Amino acid sequence: MAEYDYDVIFIGAGPGGYVGAIRAAQLGLKTACVESRETLGGTCLNVGCIPSKALLHGSEKYEEAANGTLARYGVKLSKVELDLAALQADKADAVKGLTGGIEYLFKKNKVDWLKGTGAFKDAHTVTVAGKDYTAKEVVIATGSSVTPLPGVEVDNDKGVIVDSTGALALGKVPSHLVVIGGGVIGLELGSVWRRLGAKVTVVEFLDQLLPGMDGDIRKEAARIFKKQGMELKLSTKVTGVAVKGKKATLTAEPSAGGAVETIEADCVLVAIGRRPNVAGLGLENIGLELNARGQIDTGHDFRTKVDGVRAIGDVIPGPMLAHKAEDEGIAVAEYIATGVGIVNHAVIPGVVYTMPEFAGVGLTEEAAKEAGHAIKVGKFPMMANSRAKTNHEPEGFVKVIADAQTDKVLGAWMIASVAGTMIAQVAQAMEFGATSEDIAYTCHAHPTHSEAVKEAAMGVTGKPIHI
Ligand code: FAD
Ligand code: NAD
Repeated sequence: MAEYDYDVIFIGAGPGGYVGAIRAAQLGLKTACVESRETLGGTCLNVGCIPSKALLHGSEKYEEAANGTLARYGVKLSKVELDLAALQADKADAVKGLTGGIEYLFKKNKVDWLKGTGAFKDAHTVTVAGKDYTAKEVVIATGSSVTPLPGVEVDNDKGVIVDSTGALALGKVPSHLVVIGGGVIGLELGSVWRRLGAKVTVVEFLDQLLPGMDGDIRKEAARIFKKQGMELKLSTKVTGVAVKGKKATLTAEPSAGGAVETIEADCVLVAIGRRPNVAGLGLENIGLELNARGQIDTGHDFRTKVDGVRAIGDVIPGPMLAHKAEDEGIAVAEYIATGVGIVNHAVIPGVVYTMPEFAGVGLTEEAAKEAGHAIKVGKFPMMANSRAKTNHEPEGFVKVIADAQTDKVLGAWMIASVAGTMIAQVAQAMEFGATSEDIAYTCHAHPTHSEAVKEAAMGVTGKPIHI
């Protein structure tokens, strides 16, 4: 009889756990995945990446129809009305299709779904719904949840103070939505409700939006979102929210202290970051301690300090992104099965899926300088890109940062309608150790937005054509 029930058990079926489990099974390991939700796919598929993109896409279509943009192309509409229930149904459809798809892939690859909440009994035993399951290796992939703001109580059912999950499910367009936190969630979901008709105010503690992105991008983001009609209160902190019936009154003051102001709203979205899911996992039973940020530290092979226990995804340090979790899922399975795996944490793209999109990979200009690099920067405006100009998408630019001595690309940052797609080519170039010259001498199809990447790379040596 086998020593363990499974070769590997993943706890959590988000992009980290489900992808890891499928790869482990593909590599011949007897695999199970514990998931307490009713559907697979984790935060990303159920209440994150997918539903938010469904609402972003749908609200963009609505805005184009409602604000007369389509008239330019000869599409004449006499009366544009929003059917929010239909938009929400389209979102639900996308989620259902994709989460169901993971269940199909589990069956196809013979991954056992252990339904329920998993907790460690010991390092090789996980208890799920009162039953013990043993495995040679256990991978923690429990993801993250919204960081609470003291004094501001989220109640998604009431719909007055909500987190991202509540903001994805609103049954009516708020008159005034106040978003606490000018990060990715605040700007994506703030954009959805602004496009659908809400007045949106974003309150951000720092003096710029989108922490972690390149300084030029952050500056331009503030200009673009303001132009789109969002009110931005930067360098401002919310000190409390009082709810009376369906109305909320926020108190806010300058981050550095000062005069208090009040803001009235009928919906408040708390989006100040996310924290790892570790409560109830029984980490005390295996003696696994958290770092100062409440995360599980691991080595390059995702091993924790406890033998036989590894961790991946949002629960460990690094950007909280689905594709980072997925790549770690593949790598951890490969480490377990073969002893070799790879994730290049220096090359993980990040994208904000607003219109235009904001994207970046590698070092920001600020981080490159701080790391001691002498750098050269090439910049190219989307206004001078033929395709963007033709499509009436003039906002944005591409910025390529290269090492001044070696010309190796250190990072790229961009704002463009399809920046999320354009960033992939720079990530791949960086993965191959490309120089800016390599990108500049790569033939790019015309007319495409991606030509702006080539021209920005040409700009590193001062030779773009179209500006
Ligand atoms: P998760 O996806 O959080 O999955 C963890 C799973 O573990 C959950 O299903 C949970 O139920 C389960 N679980 C937890 N504890 C237990 C337990 N003890 N027993 C059993 N099951 C358990 N990222 C992007 O890259 N692109 C995007 O566009 C994007 N959009 C987002 C939009 C929103 C609104 C939000 C909130 C997040 C978004 N993210 C996006 C982030 C992305 O969702 C996460 O980075 C990603 O889901 C992390 O994957 P994970 O596998 O580590 O964890
Ligand atoms: P975030 O870290 O992106 O932004 C949070 C913002 O809130 C920061 O700008 C921070 O300065 C601000 N803040 C913190 N405390 C505050 C306070 N008291 N008052 C006002 N502002 C305050 O976090 P998020 O937007 O909540 O997103 C969480 C995670 O989910 C992120 O790590 C992100 O990577 C991931 N996510 C990714 C995508 C995507 O890839 N497109 C989309 C959504 C979410």
